[in-house]
Amino acid sequence: MLFPTDGHGWGELLQPRQPCDALVTDKRVAWAVIGAGLTGLACARRLAGLHPDQEILLLDARCVGQGASGRNSGFAVATSQFNGGFDLQQLETYRRVNRINRAGLDLLDAQVADNGIACQWRRDGFIHTAIDQVALREYDFFRKYLEALEVDHELLGAGELQARLGSGLYQAGIAIGDGALVQPAALVRGLADSLPDNVTLCEQSPVLEIIDGQPLSLRLADANVICDRVVVATNYEAPKLGLLRRYLIGSTLAGSFTRVLTQDERASLGRLQEWGALSLHGGGATVRLTSDGRIQIRNTAEYHGGRLLDEAELAARQVTHRAGFEKRFPQLAQVPFEFSWSGVEGISRNGTNFFGQQGNNVYFAGGYNGSGVSRGSAFGTAIADYASGETSQTVSDCLASIAGAWIPPRPLLDIGAFFKVRSRFRGVGLDR
Ligand SMILES: Cc1cc2nc3c(=O)[nH]c(=O)nc-3n(C[C@H](O)[C@H](O)[C@H](O)COP(=O)(O)OP(=O)(O)OC[C@H]3O[C@@H](n4cnc5c(N)ncnc54)[C@H](O)[C@@H]3O)c2cc1C
Repeated sequence: MLFPTDGHGWGELLQPRQPCDALVTDKRVAWAVIGAGLTGLACARRLAGLHPDQEILLLDARCVGQGASGRNSGFAVATSQFNGGFDLQQLETYRRVNRINRAGLDLLDAQVADNGIACQWRRDGFIHTAIDQVALREYDFFRKYLEALEVDHELLGAGELQARLGSGLYQAGIAIGDGALVQPAALVRGLADSLPDNVTLCEQSPVLEIIDGQPLSLRLADANVICDRVVVATNYEAPKLGLLRRYLIGSTLAGSFTRVLTQDERASLGRLQEWGALSLHGGGATVRLTSDGRIQIRNTAEYHGGRLLDEAELAARQVTHRAGFEKRFPQLAQVPFEFSWSGVEGISRNGTNFFGQQGNNVYFAGGYNGSGVSRGSAFGTAIADYASGETSQTVSDCLASIAGAWIPPRPLLDIGAFFKVRSRFRGVGLDR
């Protein structure tokens, strides 16, 4: 199956949603957007505003929420952390990336508020944590970086982390007040269900081929679309449409949720009612206490050719999730996981993002290396501007993304990708 999916993810915690109809008749439109994750949704929304008299066709191979945008850990960052050191020479790059993050965060903030999207959106930041040596070194780098960028932050010692989060394992932390936590599947569903009237969303409508020409044609299983311009927002699946073949691959992450904690169990945690903890080690665990009282932990990542994990693989990864959970919260060792899920993030060899024109009237934005909630929303909006001939600070910032590094063809690709993903766990120690 070219576009497989499964029923696991944050969507499982929501009421069932009726997807929009698939595209089964031919269409002629000015604009088509392929992919209805955060990038495609932001792009379609912006195109609709820029071209109010035109129909914008938004096509997704699956149902909304089944891509990475509905399966991530729900951290919409304002300030990115760059692993591996703090380099004064890179200050302008850091500033540029953070401008993009903040633009996306502000857009999401406004869209959630304006459309009354119930997605547990909470914009009061989160905590970056360190336990073992490598992460403690990153803690020093991150502190210097935040000082240089004049980003408000608060340094937290082990005692304060225990008091806030209820775990005695964390040794040091940095709280940043800007950034939002969100239920990711509820966010993308809400964004999809509040699109402007001139956007037509078709789900379960994979585009199989983009045929060059003026106009362009998109081939689907049961229909053809003729369009003047197309924005491709398909993340790591761009190579299936012949784009970025040697530049973008999928890395599969997995995590687990506990059942809802009882009042006593919650009382055994810290004083925060809801929080998010991002490890300062690139291979460390991402942990949340959600507003509905579950602990979520994600601490595995692997190369699987860009596919989700099956039931047996998820059960096996759960052992690693469990170990990460119990060492942080031994007081909750009796609390079972209710389910596990996986998701695929788009990564490049050199950690860059992709933005711009890929062919005649074909545009692409995506590949955010695990940090695409804010950034994807900004890139999606900016690619709509760019393809429409508009300029903005965010367009310039996105265009300044460094070029992607070439990935050799198979079988070297598989070997290289395997080691690239595995390398993030080097020296992870207790942070996993
Ligand atoms: C487990 C996990 C945790 C993460 N945690 C975070 C986090 O906490 N914070 C953060 O900022 N980022 C996080 N990320 C990364 C973030 O989720 C992604 O960068 C972001 O969602 C990418 O958005 P997108 O719209 O570009 O891609 P996607 O959400 O992947 O959307 C692409 C869409 O294109 C569709 N598609 C693909 N090919 C076709 C085709 N041929 N025809 C039609 N449709 C097609 C797919 O079905 C999909 O819906 C995480 C990712 C994962 C997997």
